[in-house]
Amino acid sequence: MTDTNHFKKILTERRDYLTDKSEDIEDQFEKSGDEPFDGDAGEVRNLDVLDDLDEMAQTEIRAIDAALGRIEDGTYGDCVTCGDPIHSERLELLPHTPFCKDHAM
Ligand SMILES: [Zn+2]
Repeated sequence: MTDTNHFKKILTERRDYLTDKSEDIEDQFEKSGDEPFDGDAGEVRNLDVLDDLDEMAQTEIRAIDAALGRIEDGTYGDCVTCGDPIHSERLELLPHTPFCKDHAM
């Protein structure tokens, strides 16, 4: 039996953290937009990295939302592919995963 309250807390805290981080990234985008672009390639690379980070954060937030939805549905902790329970060690490492070890991408 999966302790959903435990994972719900972890997922909610992680979601708050990612939301904050994503807002920080957007702030940095806005700040960099205030400065005249001087053709420095390093700066462009930095923005690309920020963009990637933001995208990773958004992807994880969506996965966390889906996991929180599964907690509400009572299906959290079961692999969405085969329906087998996901090992708790795996959930501790990846609480938002919808897949067991065998069906992880
Ligand atoms: Zn599976």
